[in-house]
Amino acid sequence: MQSRATDFLGTIGESVARNLPYIDYARRFDGLGLAPLGVLIAACGTFFMPLPWNVLLAALVFAATLVMHRMREAKRKIFVARQVAHGLLSIAEDCLTLLSLEGRIMCISDVGLRLIGSERADDVVGIDWLALWDGPDGREAFERAQRGESTSFSGACRTMTGALKWWTSTLAPVYGEHGKITAVLCKSRDITAEVKLIDELRGNARVQKDMEDHVDAVFWTATHDFRELLHVSSAFERMWEMPVSTLEADQTAWSQRVHPDDLPALRDEMRTAVNTGAATQSYFRLCLPHDRTRWVRADIYPVTEDGAVSRVVSVCVDATDERQRLQELHRLANTDSLTGLSNRNAMMDALVKRCESDAPFAYLFVDIDRFKSINDTAGHIAGDAVLRTIAKRIHETLPDGAVAARPGGDEFTVILPGTFEQESIARACRKLSLACHRPIETDCKSVTMTCSIGVALYPEHGRTPEALFISADMAMYAAKRAGRNTFRVFGDREKDDLARAHLEAELHGAIRENQFVLHYQPQYRVDSGALVGVEALLRWNHPQLGLLGPGAFVSVLEESALIVEAGHWVIREAVLAASQLALALPAACSVALNVSPKQFRDPRLVSVLRHAIRRGGIDSNRITLEITESALIDNVDDAQDVLSNVRAMGVRIAIDDFGTGYSSLSYLARFRPDVLKLDKSFVDNIATDVMVRTVVEGVIDLAHKLGVMVVAEGVETQEQLDTLRDVRCDKVQGFLLGRPVPLESLMEQAEANEAATAQ
Ligand code: C2E
Ligand code: MG
Ligand code: MG
Repeated sequence: MQSRATDFLGTIGESVARNLPYIDYARRFDGLGLAPLGVLIAACGTFFMPLPWNVLLAALVFAATLVMHRMREAKRKIFVARQVAHGLLSIAEDCLTLLSLEGRIMCISDVGLRLIGSERADDVVGIDWLALWDGPDGREAFERAQRGESTSFSGACRTMTGALKWWTSTLAPVYGEHGKITAVLCKSRDITAEVKLIDELRGNARVQKDMEDHVDAVFWTATHDFRELLHVSSAFERMWEMPVSTLEADQTAWSQRVHPDDLPALRDEMRTAVNTGAATQSYFRLCLPHDRTRWVRADIYPVTEDGAVSRVVSVCVDATDERQRLQELHRLANTDSLTGLSNRNAMMDALVKRCESDAPFAYLFVDIDRFKSINDTAGHIAGDAVLRTIAKRIHETLPDGAVAARPGGDEFTVILPGTFEQESIARACRKLSLACHRPIETDCKSVTMTCSIGVALYPEHGRTPEALFISADMAMYAAKRAGRNTFRVFGDREKDDLARAHLEAELHGAIRENQFVLHYQPQYRVDSGALVGVEALLRWNHPQLGLLGPGAFVSVLEESALIVEAGHWVIREAVLAASQLALALPAACSVALNVSPKQFRDPRLVSVLRHAIRRGGIDSNRITLEITESALIDNVDDAQDVLSNVRAMGVRIAIDDFGTGYSSLSYLARFRPDVLKLDKSFVDNIATDVMVRTVVEGVIDLAHKLGVMVVAEGVETQEQLDTLRDVRCDKVQGFLLGRPVPLESLMEQAEANEAATAQ
């Protein structure tokens, strides 16, 4: 487009220029404006002239008139051409100059004047155009134009203000009469901005190349789809050890050197960079000649233009040292420095991975028996040597895919992949036992060790590393309990132990977080049916499992020391309930609470009880402690002391579950309780079994003779209640008459019953 427009202007310019000589020519004949007057004078003259002179004159006058007409026509054309030329000069965006054959400026366009920094044409006209240019190009082009050629050249010249400008100029000869070159027309375009830009770019490219050549990183640019490599820096040859020409011939050649295991991840990162528009990073290995490997780190940056990733730039650096350092750090962080086996970290990682893969495996916990004695008798250096030897031997017994670790001290753990039966486990454990059992030479003596091994199987004995760790540990302790130098697989007993341990941990939380509540079961007089007391029964409001009865947790509380703490809470809570009941049902109520054997023996029992009663502000005879026979009999003398202290306070004593323990009537006489609670097992059969009824009747008679009141518990049927009335039982408690409920419900019920009776 540009060149066509330039050509067009050139052509018009030339044709206008070609007319320029006529301007001078016409100017020379400007006097012919008086020609008509000459013709008139000539016509008058012919009238007076004789033939043939008058004819000749007339012909002459006609010819002169014709010539004058032609000349006027030519002058008009010249005028039009001049206007066109002026118009062209004023609209041309380039500098147009007309040069004399000596190379001086004869004429310049207005735009040209502005471009060369001048305001008046007079300052420019006459200047030696040839002298303006640095170098010979201007002169050569001018001389060729003088010879009739149209030429162009680019060069720099100073403007009238002294500034250096770059131009690209086209010169064309201007032809005069008879095809003679009379002048040269020059059209110059100011290209200073372009030249500067190119210079700048060249400079940048040079700096970039210098940098690329001297930096050991490889810079490359590719299209966003990675189909075309747009640029690869020279360091590629050094890093890939491959000539750039190979890459130029086959743009995928770079990938042939990338380790096949690393290529998919690298390609993934390249794609991710394009898809997300965010920089990514990838590490990969280059497989170099002579079996050498070089680690490379590639940072991949997507370049976004107009909202889309147009190309990708990447910098690859040699990361071999970095990887080696990392690997070494990783090795140190995951290795036991004494034995070279994996350490606890590494074993945990391996366990996590195994569990995630969900394939079966065995986890073995190997503990050296009596290792401490080696340290004590032969010293720590010998102890270390023993551990190193055992570790080496364990390592040697391992099948493919197995992992051995020393998490610490004299413990080793092993992961054995695969499914195991009793037989295969026994075989594996025997191999490990042998590793310990073979004599070990230390500096001072030869020692023979044994080990106890605990085995947990995935997934049967745990699905998480923590669960497997605990299971194997418990199994190992079972092996120790079984006399050491043997192995145990995690089994039912360990499972129960584990469940109990878990429950115990939860019970700590239950006390801390106040999850216990008391429910109250009513006790009635058999003769009158009046509500005379309640028994406080412990419940656990478990956050996940809901309300649990004491059967689910009291034995665990009892085994741990927690029962004492929980028992103190029960005392305080039950005494508080007794004071509330005393207000609501003054005639009726005493509160019975259960005291466990351990709590009964706790020296703080009496003071806790006293303090609670004082705080509750109630008569102490409203409180009954229920104690099982076994609690009394286990330590008779201590029991006597506690009993007398409690009784001295005015608190009553009941023997709970009478008939399930020793049931020795002599103890009844010895401890002299206030209440005897007949166990449910008697009540269950009392209405149907005469023998049971007779025994119960005898017990009640005896109790009455000793001044002991009898409460039957677990009354579920009317027949049982009727029979108990017949055998003169004092009080009853059971589902027939009321289940254990929260205190508020019990009081509401009792008040409603009282109101009903009063009406
Ligand atoms: P226990 O002291 O002999 O309490 C009576 C148990 O018999 C209660 O069971 C009660 O709900 C249940 N029972 C009452 N009437 C009937 C009936 O008609 N049929 C049936 N099938 N059962 C009936 P619970 O509440 O499960 O308590 C069980 C045991 O837990 C108690 O036996 C007691 O030995 C112990 N216990 C309860 N609360 C505490 C406590 O606060 N401290 C201690 N140390 N032990 C407690
Ligand atoms: Mg009880
Ligand atoms: Mg009982």
